[in-house]
Amino acid sequence: MSDIIKLLPDSIANQIAAGEVIQRPASVVKELLENSVDAGATNIQLIVKESGKALIQVVDNGKGMSETDARMSFERHATSKIMNADDLFRIRTMGFRGEALASIAAVAQLEMKTRSADREVGTDIVMEGSKVKRQEVCAMERGTTISVKNLFFNVPARRKFLKSDAVEMRHIIDEFQRVALVNPDIDFRFYHNGQALFQLPASNIRQRIIGILGKSYNEKLVPLEEATDLVNLTGFVGKPEAAKKSRGEQFLFVNGRYFKSPYFHSAIQKAFEGLVPHGHHPSYFIYFDVDPETIDVNIHPTKTEIKFEDERSVYAILRSSVKRSLGQYHVSPSIDFEPEQSFDILPLKPGQSVSAPTIKVDPAFNPFEPQKSKQDWERGSSFQKPMTEGWEALYSGLEGDLNQPETPETQKLEFQAEENETIVRQIGNRYILVQSTDGIFLVHQYRAHARILFEAFENSLMNTEALVQQELFPVTIELSVQDTEIMKSALDALIRIGFDIELFGETSFIVRGIPAACKEVNIEETIAGFVDDFRENKPKSSVQMHQQVIRSMAQHTAIRSGNALKAQEMINLFRELMRCKQPQFDLTGKQTFVLMNTGTLDKLFSV
Ligand code: ADP
Ligand code: MG
Repeated sequence: MSDIIKLLPDSIANQIAAGEVIQRPASVVKELLENSVDAGATNIQLIVKESGKALIQVVDNGKGMSETDARMSFERHATSKIMNADDLFRIRTMGFRGEALASIAAVAQLEMKTRSADREVGTDIVMEGSKVKRQEVCAMERGTTISVKNLFFNVPARRKFLKSDAVEMRHIIDEFQRVALVNPDIDFRFYHNGQALFQLPASNIRQRIIGILGKSYNEKLVPLEEATDLVNLTGFVGKPEAAKKSRGEQFLFVNGRYFKSPYFHSAIQKAFEGLVPHGHHPSYFIYFDVDPETIDVNIHPTKTEIKFEDERSVYAILRSSVKRSLGQYHVSPSIDFEPEQSFDILPLKPGQSVSAPTIKVDPAFNPFEPQKSKQDWERGSSFQKPMTEGWEALYSGLEGDLNQPETPETQKLEFQAEENETIVRQIGNRYILVQSTDGIFLVHQYRAHARILFEAFENSLMNTEALVQQELFPVTIELSVQDTEIMKSALDALIRIGFDIELFGETSFIVRGIPAACKEVNIEETIAGFVDDFRENKPKSSVQMHQQVIRSMAQHTAIRSGNALKAQEMINLFRELMRCKQPQFDLTGKQTFVLMNTGTLDKLFSV
């Protein structure tokens, strides 16, 4: 019998292999977007026609390819991302198998235009069914544009297998969102049949989530942050009250890669237990950062499951940190700063340690802790005037350093206040009287609120993303040319502290939201007062600019004297004040409260 075994031609082998990688238009979208991300693009456009059946085009401004690399990129197992087997354990790129372009070219008509920074001209290659149809030089900007037409033109069985346009489109949007959510620093645009579906300027994760899922998400997000030796977690969980019967938006990412995990999903679900009605699903957007050697992403080209080396510990950390962030933002019934029980049973290997989770709020400062030193109190207390002169000087004008001076008198006070401190009443619509076992606090409501807002804004500038409360009716503000310039230079800081504000035309701004930390404010008046503060005092540096923005805004948005407050508002205000780093002084160094303890009362009555 003659020999009958032959090697399959490359084009057929590629077509068979392509079946694994490219199952539908969305797979092409995913592979092309990931290549652009890997190429370091800061601008990526996705252009789709007829749900990807007619055209999928990705335009990026990434590093591009040389002529030889452009040709090589269509070879199976051709990749610039790993060199040897060891690299597999250090993967930080999205792709690494070198199969995507070969697979797409096997089952579609494809055109690639690409130019790297060090070449004068680009390369334009047209492929069809794994064959090069045409190659020429072309003029273009740095970057790569890949257009995929007539997907599965040579695999009719596959083409017939595609679902309705709506279903295929849903898959494409899913893939787009997964890539966009994990790369907020990249500007993404997505057009379908000539219409812009998403326009996502480079920003932060919160803004990206809102850009994708809508403004209403803004109020629903609670930040999450946890740093341990094993895993760093960041992101957001949806507030329990926003949980829906339908599956919410649930996203897990590890090292910049979307993944699915029923196991970790159950950890999050557990953390929400008792907070959401049965059958409701909370939303979450959680970003895991781990040592690449502790995960295995190499399971299957299209699978989204990822194996973690120490799953149980990550589970415990995840669950605990979701609980903690719900607790910290007062959406869970009890604030629980204690380590979760699950931490005690971490299956640690000998010599391995897991550092305790860190939390953003100062964990050492508990206003409800028993008093440590009464002397501190006496020093800061009302009837000995606190070193105001020094403070005034430091805060008047902007020439000096605007950072808070650290003096012994301004150190954190230890004081005694019970969790059940009772508000006695508001006096003259401007003072709040709080009774505690140790004495009576008289709080200056405006100064106290200004202090609270200042520290909240400062925190937003430095660490966390600010919460925004959306206005029911956006407010448009007309300004003079000069004031417009002031506003423009303050805009970045304003947005960072929680203003949803945008230049609208030449000299107007539209305000759609204000920092969640503010109570109701008159936006026109606030902006007018704010701009006033800047006319005389022009900040010299961006640091000064930021400081002046938060000081001025804190003063203009704090509740004025003369406003009646409800009991709960007073309690909240008092508690927030006591959580401040410097509760006892306002922004000009004036006292925010006086405490009358038995000592001071005794003195009062000694004459
Ligand atoms: P992989 O991404 O797994 O390496 P691909 O088949 O997706 O494999 O791509 C092959 C190679 O082509 C990549 O390793 C990369 O060097 C190059 N490449 C693909 N797309 C781009 C792009 N948009 N910009 C620059 N280089 C690219
Ligand atoms: Mg790739």
